[in-house]
Amino acid sequence: MGLDQNLNSFKDKLSGYDCQLIAVSKTYPADTVLEAYGAGQKVFGENKVQELVEKYDVLPKDIEWHLIGHLQTNKVKYIAPFVHLIHSVDSFKLLQEINKQGLKNQRVISCLLQIHICSEETKFGLTFDEAEEILKSESIKDFKNIKIIGFMGMATNTEDLTIIRKEFRSLKEFLTKCKSLYHTSNVDLHELSMGMSGDFEIALEEGSTMVRVGSAIFGKRDYQK
Ligand SMILES: *Cc1c(COP(=O)(O)O)cnc(C)c1O
Repeated sequence: MGLDQNLNSFKDKLSGYDCQLIAVSKTYPADTVLEAYGAGQKVFGENKVQELVEKYDVLPKDIEWHLIGHLQTNKVKYIAPFVHLIHSVDSFKLLQEINKQGLKNQRVISCLLQIHICSEETKFGLTFDEAEEILKSESIKDFKNIKIIGFMGMATNTEDLTIIRKEFRSLKEFLTKCKSLYHTSNVDLHELSMGMSGDFEIALEEGSTMVRVGSAIFGKRDYQK
């Protein structure tokens, strides 16, 4: 199957859900992104700043770029001029820097707080408590150049679907709770970024509004990044 058939058959799986496809193009060349763009896909996710910037530079400017991987504070400046959504905010310090760079670029940068919902220790993310600390902090009201619009989470890499479902459900419940507790000019929680190639079906059933899917569309990666 060609890339456009892959894309279309994947989009069929999203029909009936209020959910957007973030096509994860990490490790695939810019040409592949361009091919998907030609097939109508305008939203792409990358997990590394350098690769994101390299692709942004050479590809059509109406692509919406999402940063989905861990972000170091010293690299925010490279993506601040154009990034559409940062899925992986995992500290107050990072939020502060995104706000600073947003101001410099005269933009409001949309962000998701990444929440640690899986049982593996290696993955980044805030605990529910840490996320609430950020949402209720007084100083966040002064961050006029960011907008927190929801949460991102990654489930445990396991065959046990009940574990995955439980983790996604806990994030949805956390969103529902926080939505009613925290609402200001720059906190408006409604997006839930969850689900990848291996677990997007469960994520959809549990209320995902953005699935981040790479290999199910582009095919297996040659190497892991
Ligand atoms: C690579 C990656 C994905 C997509 O993974 P696939 O298994 O290729 O769908 C989703 N989210 C994050 C954070 C990633 O790094």
